[in-house]
This record gives sequence, structure tokens and C-alpha cells, in this order.
Amino acid sequence: MSNSVHLDDIIISKRALNLSEDSSLDQMADALQKQQQGVWPLYADNAKGLEQVQVKTFHYAQCDVKVQFNPARIKSSAAKVDSKSISERKCFLCTDALPPQQKGIPFNDEYLILVNPYPIFPRHLTIPRLEHVPQLIEPYFRDMLELSRALETYTVFYNGPKCGASAPDHMHFQAGNKGFLPVETECSKLKATTNRKLFSNDHLEIFAVSDYLRKFIAIESGDITLLHTAFGWLHELLEQRQQEPEPMLNILSGYENGKWRVLVFPRDRHRPDQYFAEGDENILLSPASVDFGGVCITPQEKDFNKIKAADLADIFAQVSVNDSYFDELCAAYAKRMAE
Ligand SMILES: [Zn+2]
Repeated sequence: MSNSVHLDDIIISKRALNLSEDSSLDQMADALQKQQQGVWPLYADNAKGLEQVQVKTFHYAQCDVKVQFNPARIKSSAAKVDSKSISERKCFLCTDALPPQQKGIPFNDEYLILVNPYPIFPRHLTIPRLEHVPQLIEPYFRDMLELSRALETYTVFYNGPKCGASAPDHMHFQAGNKGFLPVETECSKLKATTNRKLFSNDHLEIFAVSDYLRKFIAIESGDITLLHTAFGWLHELLEQRQQEPEPMLNILSGYENGKWRVLVFPRDRHRPDQYFAEGDENILLSPASVDFGGVCITPQEKDFNKIKAADLADIFAQVSVNDSYFDELCAAYAKRMAE
């Protein structure tokens, strides 16, 4: 850390948040959001705007998908994330670039818990590593599990560098309050009905879901080391297909009743045809973890008004992996787990 003095200025104490010393990280994160609304007009405006945001819901056989019209998200949805654009802009997650009003809470001496100034969730955090290192999940997956356990009222999520991260050059997670993403409630039902149980014993369960507009593999365990190992094997299999800089994926992780549930959404594409289309065909929707969780973000009103159930199904089909690859992946993963 080259900016330790600066970091001290950013870190906010429990006392400054009016919290007692035994407060949990969840309580601190919640208090931080209130504190920041009081001192940071940009964030306060966006948080207030979120209260009036328009939402509509599409009902499909297996799921509900919401569409949120959120104009403040234009920056992220339209973000240029090619290496030239990234190298020409100042990194907005480095501590020396944070606005003076922005405060944060340290996590494991390696991360800083910040408010997301362009929220989608009523409570929405951005959690960058302190050092400027590329967005990659493999070296930091265990941190994601530790974060989910420490922030039990939040779902922690990861967007790959080519799967929605608007800072692919600076490792970060995000977190949003539980109870917001439809997948959280739909998942248990999907688990009960799926015929793709890939592995199961007393300590670890793995299942796959494909008839859900998008496809995912769920890993559940109360044992952090087992879960980490199981994820590592899945990551290895995904790497056999895509390597640079890592397999395309989005991940959601939640911790409840002593167990993690991690959802891995393997992907084929970053953005669908509609994103690049001209005229009437254009829909500015750039899917990432939140969209895969069942809340699709349209920063433009024209898209919110015209988007149909069939458009969303088509967009998810394009950005998810294809059926035959998913079948192969599930078979290979089940085989690997059985060894
Ligand atoms: Zn950075």
C-alpha cells in the first residue's frame, strides 16, 4: 500500500458510525450507507432515485424476471471495458481516486467495503481489494466465501472481467441485500425439482439448473475448504474451454444457517446482439450477476418500455453457454467429483 496515510483517512470507525464495539459487519455496512447519504450528494441522489425507480416483472414457467429502469446505471451498462479504454482512464476503485466524501470499512486487511454510488439494490456495496490487481476469481474465491459469511444479510457477487465488471483491472466484489434477487427464493425449488444432481454427501451438494432461461451450477456446503476445492475443480473444467484471462462467468454467493450456497453462471458472451443493434432493434442491456439473479437493468427508458418476455429469453440464451456444452460440463464435473 503506497497510500497508507490516505487509507487511514478513508476508514471509518464504529464510533463515527454511532455503533457499539460489538457491532457486526452487516450493521457497519448498513450504517455506512446512511452516513454516506448524509455527506455525499451524488450517492444520496442516486439512492433516493432508486426509491422511485420503475420495475416490471415477467413471469416464466420456472422463474420471474424483473426489469428495473435505472438511468444512473448508464455508466456501467455502457462502460467501455476494452484494454485501451481501461488503460486511458483513471481507476475509480483505487483508494487514491475515491471522492473525498467516500468512507469505507476494512475487511481482512485486504478489502475496503464501500457504498456503490450507483445502486441497484436498496443496500448495495462495492468491495475492492486495496491493491490495484486484475479482476480474477480463482485467487480470491475463498475471500468471497469469507465475505459472504461476514455479510450474512447480503448476497455477495462477482462479475468476471469480460462479464460485466466495469473495472476489469481492479479486483472487486459487490454485495446487495438479500431478498432482492428472485433466484434466491427460486433456488430451493429448483434444487428440489432438478434432475441434475451432480454430487451429494453430508457435507457437500452440487446441482445444475438449465431450464431457467439461464444456466447455473450450485455448490452448497458448510465447509469452506470443501467448497473452495469443489469450485476449483469446476474452474479447471471451465478453463479447458476458455482461458483468457479466465473462463467467462458470474457468481452469486450467500451464507445462511451455517452454509454457503454459491451459484456459478458460465457464459459464452459478454453482450447480446441487441446491445450492438441499431435503431429499433437496439436494447442497451449488458447482463451481469444481478441480471442473472433475475433483475435486469435497463438504463434507458425506451428499452424499459419496449422490452418483452421473449427479448429477455433471447438475451439470456445468447450470453449463457449452449445446451450441449452445459451437458458436457455437468457430466465432466459429476465424474470429477466422483473420483
Ligand atoms: Zn485500481
